Amino acid sequence: MNTTQINLKNNIRILKSTVNRQALYGLAISLASVIIATLVNCYMREGSITIDGIYTVQKSLPVLWLLDALPFVFLFWGQYVGSVLAYEASALIIDQTDELRSQTATLEKKVMYEATHDSLTELPNRILLHDRLEQAINISLRHNGTVGLIILDLDRFKEVNDTLGHFAGDKVLKQVALRLRGIVRKSDTLARMGGDEFAILLTEIENTNALDIFIQRINQAMQLPFKLAGMSLDLQASLGIAICPDHGKDVDTIIQRAEVAMYAAKQQKIGFALYSPELDRFSPRRLTLMGELRQALQRDEILLYFQPQIDLATGTILQAESLIRWQHPIHGLLAPDEFIDLAERTGLIKEVTSWVLNESINQILQWQKEDFHMTLAVNISPSCLLNTDLPEIIIGSLGSHNLGKSMLTIEITETSIIQDPHLAYEILSRLKNLGADISIDDFGTGYSSLAMLRRLPVSEIKIDKSFVMDMLDNEDDEIIVKSIIELGHNLGLSVVAEGVESLKTAKRLQQMHCDTLQGFYFSKPLPADQFKQWHDHSAATLLSQLPE
Ligand code: C2E
Ligand code: CA
Ligand code: CA
Repeated sequence: MNTTQINLKNNIRILKSTVNRQALYGLAISLASVIIATLVNCYMREGSITIDGIYTVQKSLPVLWLLDALPFVFLFWGQYVGSVLAYEASALIIDQTDELRSQTATLEKKVMYEATHDSLTELPNRILLHDRLEQAINISLRHNGTVGLIILDLDRFKEVNDTLGHFAGDKVLKQVALRLRGIVRKSDTLARMGGDEFAILLTEIENTNALDIFIQRINQAMQLPFKLAGMSLDLQASLGIAICPDHGKDVDTIIQRAEVAMYAAKQQKIGFALYSPELDRFSPRRLTLMGELRQALQRDEILLYFQPQIDLATGTILQAESLIRWQHPIHGLLAPDEFIDLAERTGLIKEVTSWVLNESINQILQWQKEDFHMTLAVNISPSCLLNTDLPEIIIGSLGSHNLGKSMLTIEITETSIIQDPHLAYEILSRLKNLGADISIDDFGTGYSSLAMLRRLPVSEIKIDKSFVMDMLDNEDDEIIVKSIIELGHNLGLSVVAEGVESLKTAKRLQQMHCDTLQGFYFSKPLPADQFKQWHDHSAATLLSQLPE
């Protein structure tokens, strides 16, 4: 007997005994009615109650016969109804329990799926690939087999994103995923590693010829132009491959070497490269940097630079943007573009951001002690705002330092919002309530709906520097800048232009009623002490050149 049957039996027993008890009350009541009816009738006929009288009454009154039958009816009815009810009720409970159980299982499956798959392409993600690669390597080492890993990275995909927006970029990535899906075998795994990087795990490679054929098939799949809103887009990819056991016998080495081969292919523009130790010279700094970043944080190699923002209405420097730098012992001062996306890929971005945040707050407080009142803007990556417990960290830092209102601005990109508008709204509102201002960075390059912007507790938009830098020579850029300023003002937002490199641009933006300017013309990002010196000695001269 299985557990369901045992449960059913037990439930029936309990329910039946309850119904039986009710039937027994019925039996007692009907017996009492028989006795009372007999006694009353006997008394009314004979004037007294005697055995003979009772006997006569019982014999002569048919109504009493009916009454006499009632206890038996109750007994039978109780048993019958009790059994039926108990069976039905118990079956119902068991049905519901089963349903609940299957709902929980579906939910568990869904959570598991989301943790191991990329939501855009529905392909396995880096975590699942790691797992499968590990299994494949273990099996192949036992059976003297060969496992291959191909890393595929799209060439110049950033241009697609920058010129057509992330929405178009996402569409292209989906199409690439579909095409690659069409050529991988069932036993192999196609995964999205992040950004425009895919991986194909080949669980068995018969010979080098088979590998060549597979590479050809990938190239053929990528050859036809991609269609996007009526446009045709040519996209190439660079492929790198590493093989177990030839190039390594563990997951990390194989992934790292396939990446090295891919970078070599990209730099030499040869489309495809098989790993060999000579290729290590092509290995970009990024790959070694990836391993060093964690230590860099502990060794105080990470620094903050500050770039001023000029408030045109008051002609003062009200705020500066915190921009991260890495003082690397060998490579010198590294810009964020060299390591921020590494930090995002490895998950270290959480530590980095929380460091930037604390350091910025400490700097504000330090300057306040020196009677220098400067607020700061901090950049928060999309992966941080929504996917980690970073909001709690920000809230903790803000709360524990008791900064005044509007001392800190949080710069986020449109991507952060589009991914999950509801969650973004919730988090941004909480931050706003704690005194942080919210600014939308790189505005104009992403894809966000105006309706969404209106609803969010945002107070500022920053026009992307790519439009501002060329606006004097490029009419399209100038029109975009002008429209963003008007749009921002119509939505009640303050507008910042970054990438202001000349006095001419600054003046033009002032005519367009832009609120705040930031750019190399005023100052490059500077370390804290130099920033203060610039503020005290050079700022006034620069500002005086702008018309009132
Ligand atoms: P961003 O937030 O758009 O920052 C502005 C970038 O434009 C800075 O580059 C700044 O030096 C540069 N810039 C400012 N004015 C001009 C100009 O007039 N001309 C030119 N050509 N460039 C100008 P930087 O410091 O290299 O930072 C690059 C990006 O790295 C930032 O872009 C931001 O997205 C990211 N980043 C910087 N610090 C952090 C950080 O602490 N956390 C995160 N998540 N990202 C950061
Ligand atoms: Ca920024
Ligand atoms: Ca920006």
